[in-house]
Amino acid sequence: MNILEKRKDFPALEQEVHGKSIVYLDNAASTLKPQAVIDAINQHYSKETANIHRGIHFLSAQGTQKYEETRTSIKDFINAPKEIEVIFTKGTTDSINLVAHSWGAAFLKPGDEILISTMEHHSNIVPWQIIAEQKQAKVVEIPVTDSGEIDEKALKALISPKTKMIAMGHISNTLGTVNPVKKYIEWAHEVGAHFLVDAAQSIAHMKVDVQEMNADFLVFSSHKMFGPTGVGVLWGREELLNAMPPYQSGGAMIKDVSFEKTTYNELPEKFEAGTPHISGVNSLKAAVDYINEIGFEEISKQENDLLHYATDQLKQIEGLRIIGEAKEKASVISFTLEGAHPHDIGMILDEQGVAIRTGHHCTQPLMKRFNVPATARASFSFYNNRDDVDRLISALKKAKELL
Ligand code: PMP
Repeated sequence: MNILEKRKDFPALEQEVHGKSIVYLDNAASTLKPQAVIDAINQHYSKETANIHRGIHFLSAQGTQKYEETRTSIKDFINAPKEIEVIFTKGTTDSINLVAHSWGAAFLKPGDEILISTMEHHSNIVPWQIIAEQKQAKVVEIPVTDSGEIDEKALKALISPKTKMIAMGHISNTLGTVNPVKKYIEWAHEVGAHFLVDAAQSIAHMKVDVQEMNADFLVFSSHKMFGPTGVGVLWGREELLNAMPPYQSGGAMIKDVSFEKTTYNELPEKFEAGTPHISGVNSLKAAVDYINEIGFEEISKQENDLLHYATDQLKQIEGLRIIGEAKEKASVISFTLEGAHPHDIGMILDEQGVAIRTGHHCTQPLMKRFNVPATARASFSFYNNRDDVDRLISALKKAKELL
């Protein structure tokens, strides 16, 4: 298969911005959507609209079946043992909040510690801070090294019987660091702590296998894996999810309601209160099928090529500093340019049709760690090509001239 042919599947790549053909390098924020996913969304609203679960009529039954088929495809995609462990949420943020507030409220005790690293996205920091405050538990920071890797010596020293949860990104959205979570999960389990893997950045780029890594919870968003926005996944071990109280309540999550006593539904409905994002879930299956069809071997070959091709050229630009030089790195490159604010770089690049992201990337503690207010970030997907990198480099050279 020539993976570059797959560019044609993404109609967004056919357009021009500011009179230039678009170069989309903001994939860590959200990926573009292939025609197959767009068609699935269109099909849902054209022909398949109906509420699910409670209906006896044809469209409702068909919608329910599709919804559950997506659950099965996600189970297979992450190699989860059971469908009922796959909970549909609004996204990574929602999934982490679910775990923090449901598991945290039920099991955290005063003095317990939650370990999270300096490189976490705010969505993997703030929910833990809120629940820790409520439960008089403590959020403890795992430091990162100058190259942007987890400081393993520090992590080892921090893990203790007080540790109840370690929550960590599989891949950093700012640095691109691929964290060896399997090893850290083993360390967590040695003291009886649980481990939540934030797979928001890894799910579309590498095989994520919850049994192989032996995770306890894993979370990700559909929109970063070529699927629609507004949908995400929480996977958790059955025994943990069973022991956790409902997070939100209302329709669908109940077994029986009375004013004397209400009982809750089984997994997964216990955690899916209300009408879910039916069109989103049902078209997420098209995204999973699409990734499976290409395969991660091809995806990572292309993305690795782009990472190295871009890194080599960026390094030749005088005054450009790459933030994050981990040995294991995904196709995310953060950088600063001497004398230029990242925001201005982003604007000048945009005028040339090159879409990158600038700012703190929802990782303010990490910005502080590297002593920068913000960075510019180019992030690649398999549908990017070397021409895109060349356009990035020449746009950067122009920005350097102007600033
Ligand atoms: N974690 C990481 C590592 C991310 O990159 C992101 C999105 N930038 C999130 C969490 C939050 O994802 P969402 O906004 O889809 O909930």
